[in-house]
Amino acid sequence: MLGAHADKVVIAESKEDVMAIMQKSSETATPVTVVGGATGVTGGCLAFGGIILSTERLNDIGIIKTVSDRKASIKVGAGSLVSDIKNYALKNGWMYPPDPTEKNATIGGNISTNASGGRGFKYGTTRDYINCVDVVLPDGAFMSVKRGTVFADSKNEISFNTSNGTKKIKLPDYKLPKIKNATGYFNYENSDLIDVFIGSEGTLGVIVSAELVLIKPFETLFGGIIFFDERKKSWNFVNEIRNLSKQKNSDAINALSLEYFDKNALELIKKDYPVIPSDVDAGILFEQDCTKKNYDALLDKWIKIIEKYGIDINNVWFATNEKEQEEFRKFRHKIPERVNEIVKKYKIPKVGTDIAVPHDKLEKMINFCETTFNKEKLMHLTFGHIGESHLHANLIASTKEEYEKCRSIYIQIAKKAVSLGGTVSAEHGIGKTKHPFAEIMLGKNGIEEMRKLKLSLDPSNILGQNNIFKMK
Ligand SMILES: Cc1cc2nc3c(=O)[nH]c(=O)nc-3n(C[C@H](O)[C@H](O)[C@H](O)COP(=O)(O)OP(=O)(O)OC[C@H]3O[C@@H](n4cnc5c(N)ncnc54)[C@H](O)[C@@H]3O)c2cc1C
Repeated sequence: MLGAHADKVVIAESKEDVMAIMQKSSETATPVTVVGGATGVTGGCLAFGGIILSTERLNDIGIIKTVSDRKASIKVGAGSLVSDIKNYALKNGWMYPPDPTEKNATIGGNISTNASGGRGFKYGTTRDYINCVDVVLPDGAFMSVKRGTVFADSKNEISFNTSNGTKKIKLPDYKLPKIKNATGYFNYENSDLIDVFIGSEGTLGVIVSAELVLIKPFETLFGGIIFFDERKKSWNFVNEIRNLSKQKNSDAINALSLEYFDKNALELIKKDYPVIPSDVDAGILFEQDCTKKNYDALLDKWIKIIEKYGIDINNVWFATNEKEQEEFRKFRHKIPERVNEIVKKYKIPKVGTDIAVPHDKLEKMINFCETTFNKEKLMHLTFGHIGESHLHANLIASTKEEYEKCRSIYIQIAKKAVSLGGTVSAEHGIGKTKHPFAEIMLGKNGIEEMRKLKLSLDPSNILGQNNIFKMK
């Protein structure tokens, strides 16, 4: 985004600093934009005037408190890097499961965008691991929101206490799809107040710290990349694994992640990875966590299923431990890396989708995208979290005209995803770059309801201006 700038940068060192800066800003109607790791991809942390409030020094990582033999909790400052939290937990025998790929993101940023990663298939999103958030509201009031304590009433209203007295919000009436979603303020039946702040993209309050849920780490894992000569076979394979993964038995197949690469994505990195066969039509990366005891039995089960799809097991690229799995991470990263090289060459932004649909609509969605891309003869490739029916289609334009065409195609894709009961953003959020898509999904009315909700906490509209929607 061109033209982003701030008049001041404030680096908060305590919750009190944040309270003071918000109180002063609300009195002077000064815009404040919160920045965590600045890794967001929809422009949410970019300011256009006013103050940039950095959380980088709110980075305390607390002591782990054991709740049971399978669960623990930890209090962390909003500016703590997610990778530091994960490493600290692992060193102490625990695991923080959400695993967004980006290592420099902060936990405050992850909470504000409800981030998720490749292992979201098994572990869900950030939302599922947040017990409590400590928030400073736009007027400088402080409150601690504990999960399971404050809920919406039958009118979809929530009243809550803050250090500046009681406040009330009315949640929107729109219905959100019951799939992975990062579009719009959270709103399901009986919404918990904590969930309204999670995913609110820095518009309702500044998160200063949070209590996270930790679980016991898995003992070991294996994974593989399977190359299919027909993409339809890869989708059938995913369907079968998804069904098997519903079993609760610990000796049964239960995938940790299921990732998809279409033919064009694989072609792009073929030179880097000669292991990719010439007749490839699609690839699936899977991971399975297990114990040392059931490792062999589970691996056998996977091999049997893979062979059922006519795949020569010698052509599957296996990784047998977390270290080898690192090669898979590099493989996955190579695709966006190559895309970025091309984009830099053309000097035209890439258009990347973040849509998800109910799983039984995925095939329809992929076919719609491919037919549209091919008709317009645009360079395109698709990859992503197929286990959650959440794919990133990348459209690469070489001219401004092509770029405009890509944006208009994105509108068509967003409309299609919504018509299939899906979402226009499953993990990156709306930020400042995807407003038209939010409106396609939530309607003008939905956007208006979000505006009203925001104004009830932020009457001067100072916090996170133009994130998710414009105030008009
Ligand atoms: C290479 C790469 C890979 C990525 N992979 C993934 C992925 O796998 N999954 C995924 O979900 N995302 C991914 N992302 C996107 C990005 O990492 C996430 O959106 C992340 O949550 C942003 O965190 P951040 O700390 O960088 O936040 P920022 O970019 O600084 O901010 C993001 C938004 O959160 C708000 N915010 C930040 N901190 C706070 C706070 N303390 N209180 C209130 N609001 C706050 C900001 O105002 C802004 O609106 C990726 C990005 C890159 C560059």
